[in-house]
Amino acid sequence: MVRFPASCNVFMDEFGRIAHFFAPLASGFSGSLNLRDDAALLAPSAGHELVITKDALSEGVHFLGSESAGLIASKALRTNLSDLAAKGAKPLVYFLALMLPPGTGDAWLEAFCAGLENDQKIFGISLAGGDTISTHGKLSISITAIGEVPLGSMLKRSGAQAGDAIYVSGTLGDSALGLRSLQNGLGMAALEERYLLPQPRTALGLHLRTLAHACMDVSDGLVQDLGHICAASGVGALVHTPNIPLSPEAATQPGALTAALSGGDDYELLFTSPASAHAALEALSAEVGVRISRIGEVVSGSGVRVLDASGDEVKLTSTGYVHR
Ligand SMILES: [Mg+2]
Repeated sequence: MVRFPASCNVFMDEFGRIAHFFAPLASGFSGSLNLRDDAALLAPSAGHELVITKDALSEGVHFLGSESAGLIASKALRTNLSDLAAKGAKPLVYFLALMLPPGTGDAWLEAFCAGLENDQKIFGISLAGGDTISTHGKLSISITAIGEVPLGSMLKRSGAQAGDAIYVSGTLGDSALGLRSLQNGLGMAALEERYLLPQPRTALGLHLRTLAHACMDVSDGLVQDLGHICAASGVGALVHTPNIPLSPEAATQPGALTAALSGGDDYELLFTSPASAHAALEALSAEVGVRISRIGEVVSGSGVRVLDASGDEVKLTSTGYVHR
């Protein structure tokens, strides 16, 4: 599955294009065998284990389709990097499957690969293999990303304990508001960028291995994703809306709180930590340059309850984007 095979009828010269577009992306990882074999070779560092995740994106569902090829590539890779960050994993390599509609030309592919190359440098990850096929449907991209953690140290959803504080990185709701801006031509560039170009919290995630009991990235909305942590851990959660971090751009927008509670595509880290970790988290926030906000607490029981400044429960009409 590592070669980009001749079954693909998008390209006139399949192997030439593998060499031109994709092999350079794999040159930093010797186990890729320069994409000239049927499979790649990968071993974790001594005392480590591999963390493996996959995210697929489809035009019109996960991205608009009007974005540049480079931005589409970045979003595809970064959603996977966000999952590795949420597990406390150091990125290693990724596998790429591209489903290209008819008429996809070399210029598009070149820009797509340039986007990947740029992010590979930023996040320290390399292409290890993949496949490219033509499709009669829309553009789809599937990436499998592999990272590593010291044995037994992967952050899980299931570790939250009653009494933990609940934290989130960055700000919430920007991406959902950015998508609304893009769809309605509102021109809110800062918010739109949050939708178009996620910021995986890789450095933060690495440090959270020793500070967090449970962690995941917020991709489907805060309340829904926190519900996943609660279900996996057998606990409940209280969230206090005055503590939810909003960017200055988002705070002025109608529906900002709803977007922060239930909007998708934030790709911030949501985690729970014991009270004893609070000072270390403040220091870590300064060290990695990422805001960390305490938004609530883990309680015994089940489910997520959202409380306003008066302590009254906020009723949500939607708890996030539900995948069909
Ligand atoms: Mg995730």
